[in-house]
Amino acid sequence: MRVRSLWPLATLLAVLPLQAHPRHRPAPTAQEEKAIHRVEKLSDHAYVLFGQGGNVGLFVTDAYAVLVDDQFEHLAPGLLKAIRSVTDKPIRYLVNTHAHPDHVGANLVLEKQVMAIVAHANVRRRMVLAQAPLEPAKRGGLPELAFGEEDPRIRARLDIHLGGAEFHLLHLGPGHTDGDVLFGYPAERVLHMGDLFFHGLLPYIDTDSGGSFEGLVSQVEAVAGWVPEGARIIPGHGPVAGRKELLRYRDFLKAVQAHVKANPGKAPAALAAAFDTGAWSDYRPSPGFVSWENLFAVASGQGPGRTPRS
Ligand SMILES: [Zn+2]
Repeated sequence: MRVRSLWPLATLLAVLPLQAHPRHRPAPTAQEEKAIHRVEKLSDHAYVLFGQGGNVGLFVTDAYAVLVDDQFEHLAPGLLKAIRSVTDKPIRYLVNTHAHPDHVGANLVLEKQVMAIVAHANVRRRMVLAQAPLEPAKRGGLPELAFGEEDPRIRARLDIHLGGAEFHLLHLGPGHTDGDVLFGYPAERVLHMGDLFFHGLLPYIDTDSGGSFEGLVSQVEAVAGWVPEGARIIPGHGPVAGRKELLRYRDFLKAVQAHVKANPGKAPAALAAAFDTGAWSDYRPSPGFVSWENLFAVASGQGPGRTPRS
């Protein structure tokens, strides 16, 4: 069922037992919350919040805060506490980088506390589809401001002007999904890349949600071409990166792409076996989620980008 198919990263991070639906999990204790969330300051007005699920960006302007992604619903109390340790300003906008539940799971809670949830139109479309089987009381948290076209190849941009700050939301094409958004704060050279960037982990490309390996490579190449020295880059997963690490990720993706092109017709397992994984040992497989074989399956168009659920 569609809802379950949207929980890939839960497996990766060993956050949730597969048989448990996260909506039914009890709220974590205060001690668990303390252990889960960690705040790192990136610039004068930008922060990243680490927890379980996708990394969260927090941007604090003169009068308001802007949040980028929100992890899981059951972690919302701890996430809010972490936000309040940084600022007591109201959250004006919540931006979703894409529709996976480890990035939008707390929308249901936060929609009552923000003026608007903002995302690419395909994020809203996929969330509506994912919620269709649920009972009405469990639906909600949908993006209210949606931009971009259903055809993910069409680029889209939305600027947010808030007080003295300016944020750019960019959709460059299909990549991790068909609704990925890059969130930039140029004044302080901070960029949230969502799951277009798995830092230190083999990337997951969700072809069931319109993702594309070739698209991912070209987007990462494009960003690597303009991201400035000194930039702080929030990946969807993994530690904060800079330009150097993004260039390394680009080179890694291009090496995978070149290996596939040099070996037409080879099966994913054979492609993985023949690849120099030792040269890219800083990119690790995630057991039960994305293996080298999974990556070569999706890169060669021969299969999904993740290990099938049992
Ligand atoms: Zn994702």
